[in-house]
Amino acid sequence: MQKRSNTQQRPLSEIPVAAVPGVGTTKAKALRKIGVETVEDLLYYFPRRYLDRSDIRAIKDLEVGTDATVVGRVVSAQIQRGRRSRFVLTLSDGTGFLQCVWFHGLQFLPKAFNKGDQVAVSGRVGMFGHFFQMTHPEFDRLSAANGTPVHTSKIIPLYPSSQALDRAQLDSRGFRRTLHACLTTFGARIVETLPDEIRKRQKLTTLRYALQNVHFPESAEALRHARRRLKFDELFYLELLLALRRKVLERGQKGLVLRQVGEKTRELVSRLPFELTPAQRRVLREIYADMRSDRPMHRLLQGDVGSGKTVVALVAMLMAVENGYQAAIMAPTEILAEQHFLNIRSFLQELDVRVRLLIGGQSAAERREILEEVASGEADIVVGTHALIQEGVTFAKLGLVVIDEQHRFGVVQRRLLQEKGPNPDVLVMTATPIPRTLSLTLYGDLDVSVIDELPAGRKKVRTVWRPAEKRGAIYNFVRDEVRKGRQAYIVFPLVEESEKSDLKAATESYERMKESVFRGLRVGLLHGRMPNAEKEAVMRAFKSGEVQILVSTTVIEVGVDVPNATVMVIEHAERFGLTQLHQLRGRVGRGGEQSYCILVAYEPISDEAKQRLETMVKTSDGFKIAEVDLRLRGPGEFFGTRQHGFPALRIADVVHDYGLLVKAREEAFRLIEQDPHLTAPEHQRIRDHFLRHYRERLDFVKVA
Ligand code: ADP
Ligand code: MG
Repeated sequence: MQKRSNTQQRPLSEIPVAAVPGVGTTKAKALRKIGVETVEDLLYYFPRRYLDRSDIRAIKDLEVGTDATVVGRVVSAQIQRGRRSRFVLTLSDGTGFLQCVWFHGLQFLPKAFNKGDQVAVSGRVGMFGHFFQMTHPEFDRLSAANGTPVHTSKIIPLYPSSQALDRAQLDSRGFRRTLHACLTTFGARIVETLPDEIRKRQKLTTLRYALQNVHFPESAEALRHARRRLKFDELFYLELLLALRRKVLERGQKGLVLRQVGEKTRELVSRLPFELTPAQRRVLREIYADMRSDRPMHRLLQGDVGSGKTVVALVAMLMAVENGYQAAIMAPTEILAEQHFLNIRSFLQELDVRVRLLIGGQSAAERREILEEVASGEADIVVGTHALIQEGVTFAKLGLVVIDEQHRFGVVQRRLLQEKGPNPDVLVMTATPIPRTLSLTLYGDLDVSVIDELPAGRKKVRTVWRPAEKRGAIYNFVRDEVRKGRQAYIVFPLVEESEKSDLKAATESYERMKESVFRGLRVGLLHGRMPNAEKEAVMRAFKSGEVQILVSTTVIEVGVDVPNATVMVIEHAERFGLTQLHQLRGRVGRGGEQSYCILVAYEPISDEAKQRLETMVKTSDGFKIAEVDLRLRGPGEFFGTRQHGFPALRIADVVHDYGLLVKAREEAFRLIEQDPHLTAPEHQRIRDHFLRHYRERLDFVKVA
């Protein structure tokens, strides 16, 4: 009795899933394994897809070579032993027979089906003898031979399944039964979280209706409404996180106020060997306005590869320095940090600004000296890698933090560098062209500036893709270009899982090329495993033109800048992602000469790889490329969500649900504007939900 009344008062998020009728220890254990611990978790375990009865085909109407879904009763289910043993399931729907064949899973499949069960299968239709056949179809059991279907409506939810779930009788059928029991017992206790005002304004159903209908849709219309509400919730909490983060960044934090653009900054701009583009100027004005205001700057600078972000950052850093502060720039790799260091130092020559480099491989003595200069304020600009955010690095007066290639760092790292100063201005730069619409979600707490034009006079890089057999001709072409005085990159993939063999492929090819095709030319090798001093030496030699052909792994992907390099050959281009290919291509086409990017692809080349290669040939617009990439890979992969510290979305999709995202964002920001601590009684439920599910992401937010 005691226990019961307890259960009745507790919120669904605190009631163990075992309280659902029909969920015993076996089921509870299997559910826990997939992260379903409470009644609430179960309600939020959404169907993977829905079977709409109007999409079901009669067996007699099947067409060979098309994809179809069939629902039928099991007529027979048996293993056929032979040269290749198989499991054959024969279904009938009254209009004909369909054979389904599996060549694996033979231990488990026979136990999964009983004669008379009602089953849905989806797959490509083939023909075998007189029977229609599907090989390895997707399948769901809808009801047992003797049981009545739990659900007879037109739309049937199908749940994610696995062998482990199956063993606990949690296939789609089991889930439907369990959720039915769950909703019957606990459905009335689902409490609304959103204030009426928001629900009315956004035309959202109640949460109870949504959870009921996402599992047991009354109609297609009801399902649409249910999903819209649940998607809204997800996006709303995501944006709430951003709104809070933003609020904390702004609240109570007096930023530094920079008074003036000084002499040196003017001098630097006038001495640049080129004119700043209008886009660079506009962005600098935006940055300058931020730096002058008493709110700390939190700005994202987005610009395609080669658009000239570094110079913009440099000007900003010099402004900080001239106002008596230090500036730091953090790059993801040592090569890039070194390059920034050399560049910045040469730009600042004769301007009496002290630039220091802080990276991992430095000697203890060197490091000590640099740290002292940073701590005393003697060093004005500090260029570095992750080494900058380590303990023991103390700045005297850090006023501006620049983070290059933001996508390589997480929010935490950004934060760590920021904390090296008292509310410094922050500028993060990225060349990952995020479809503009999406920077809202990803960088919702930052203002965004975009450099949307390349410096004048850049020629479009000519891009082709070629099968590996054509390598001979490609290398001849490279040789000819080099003889004309140009330089070339030849890049090999290096992915973590196969790092050793990849490294071997790159070094061996390097040896071979040096001895044969490129004999007589100066060829250099660069890869991540080389000691720093060696890397630096090779990069220098390539920059100075001493090395003509640089064979390298993808370490050169970001930032490397050698305008005389006009040829980029990418080996095994089929293995690279689009964004990476685009980044690599951005290494050429930086000077006045015509440049070339040659993508060498090896069989087998998947359809998706072909699409990537063709996209590269067709377009050089980073934003378009990013959109294709996003479509091919899906948002999760694209963003590397975990790295960004964002919660994974279960039902919403930032691409397809963009309209809803914008609405959710408006509501979230409005709410935080009105009630920053979510203390109003009508916001209590939002606050509870937020703290329950997003608490661990609050590290960066520090809500009061
Ligand atoms: P990214 O945006 O990829 O970091 P960089 O800052 O490395 O680009 O700039 C690419 C190259 O273009 C560099 O050699 C840089 O000196 C040069 N550059 C930058 N701005 C201009 C400009 N306005 N006109 C001509 N060249 C420029
Ligand atoms: Mg750059």
